[in-house]
Amino acid sequence: MSDLKTARDCIVIGGGISGLSVAFFASHAGKSVLVLEEGSQAGGKIRTHWEEGFCCEWGPQGFLDNVPETLELVRLLGLEHRLVKASPKAADRFILRQGTLRKVPLSPPAFFISDVLSLRGKLRVLCEPFVPRGHAEDESVLSFARRRIGKEAAEVLVDAMVTGVFAGRAEELSLSATFPKMAMMERTYGSLTRAMLANRKKSGGGPAGPGGTLTTFVDGMQELTDRLAAALGQSLRLKSPVAKVHYQDASTCPWQVSLHDGTQLVARNLVVTVPPPKACTLLGELFPPQAVAALREIPLPPVVVVITAYKSPQPFAHPLSGFGFLVPSREPRQILGTLFCHSIFPHQAPEGTVLLRTILGGARQPEVIAFSDDELLRLVRRELHAILGGDSDPDLVRVFRHPEGIPQYTLGHPRRLKVLAEASSQLRGLYLTGNAYGGVAVNACIAEAKKVAASLR
Ligand SMILES: Cc1cc2nc3c(=O)[nH]c(=O)nc-3n(C[C@H](O)[C@H](O)[C@H](O)COP(=O)(O)OP(=O)(O)OC[C@H]3O[C@@H](n4cnc5c(N)ncnc54)[C@H](O)[C@@H]3O)c2cc1C
Repeated sequence: MSDLKTARDCIVIGGGISGLSVAFFASHAGKSVLVLEEGSQAGGKIRTHWEEGFCCEWGPQGFLDNVPETLELVRLLGLEHRLVKASPKAADRFILRQGTLRKVPLSPPAFFISDVLSLRGKLRVLCEPFVPRGHAEDESVLSFARRRIGKEAAEVLVDAMVTGVFAGRAEELSLSATFPKMAMMERTYGSLTRAMLANRKKSGGGPAGPGGTLTTFVDGMQELTDRLAAALGQSLRLKSPVAKVHYQDASTCPWQVSLHDGTQLVARNLVVTVPPPKACTLLGELFPPQAVAALREIPLPPVVVVITAYKSPQPFAHPLSGFGFLVPSREPRQILGTLFCHSIFPHQAPEGTVLLRTILGGARQPEVIAFSDDELLRLVRRELHAILGGDSDPDLVRVFRHPEGIPQYTLGHPRRLKVLAEASSQLRGLYLTGNAYGGVAVNACIAEAKKVAASLR
């Protein structure tokens, strides 16, 4: 089978949110595109499953409503009226410290009276404006946080934040790759406190920065990718794993893509959004050794989601009202955290019931991917019992495994990105995008996708 005569402006490999968004923005700008997705469903990590009135999200629970590119995409897809914001009642977030859940303070006065850190830990945070600037070019998140706000705040607050976003290890992640704004705040203002005060002044005394509210859709996150897939129509081919890509420098349409069934396709631009190990398989022969090494060096530890639902309003001693809790790595526990989904998005569970979503694995415990469903449920019940008090029998349990979970932007990531950008620039019309490079959040994937779509030849 050959489709060599139909030259397209762009072929996109991978139909997750990154690939679908590139294709959508590009076709909106009048380009001819084709997305090739190996699975039988588009969406990649995004998948929603409803059962007995409970919304079970395989991957992302939502996105923050403060990124213009995502809001533009939602508007272009006609989905604005389907947005659902997190309930204001879910504002309370908890962190486990010394075996007890502590409320995360949301204002400076609340911080002083909070028990999230010891008095000594809180006093050390106050010294932040007097800590000199660091000089390391690529510093770990943990080292930066220890230096600026002290060991305890770093190991409790910052470690929890890293767990929540990356399921990662703060001592391994690159600050400038994972939290570039924080690195910039120190560079520009010499201190995070001074930077926040300056931003507050600029915004006329209002909140120090665009916070954003966690948002989803009435039917869950899959509504976004389903709508993208529908808008792309024939420009999306499912069950189409790409086996090989070829590059012919002399041609105006330099990219030829071979599928496993023998189909061959050509395009002016090629956008690769698959995880780095697969990108490496596809581009390995075209890239120089240092770019191949850069792709291989991006770790992709597995993540497991265990959903437990209870048809009673109070299955644990904890009231379970709020957003959920995170577990810093210094706590001797085996889960990364749990979201109180019924409280965040009340429409995602029948009234008077409880829907919990516990995350395990990541860089801290990659071995959990091999546990059976029964082992995972036993582990989650044991941990929830210890943290929330009580051991209710869940009425519904669902386990979702992501063998290639969340990419880790470890030390050296900024250098790897430069190497990959240089290698891609040598191959006309090639773009590497997706969650492994410039941001793991859905918002970051969409913002990058828009940039890529705008730069296609
Ligand atoms: C458990 C979990 C919870 C998360 N929670 C949040 C959250 O609450 N908020 C948030 O913003 N982000 C969250 N994230 C991160 C976010 O979901 C992902 O970073 C994002 O969805 C990745 O999208 P992507 O398109 O870059 O990659 P993917 O979704 O991985 O898509 C890549 C696609 O490529 C396809 N593919 C692979 N090889 C081939 C091939 N050879 N040929 C064709 N197709 C191929 C795959 O089938 C897949 O569909 C979470 C992630 C996980 C795992």
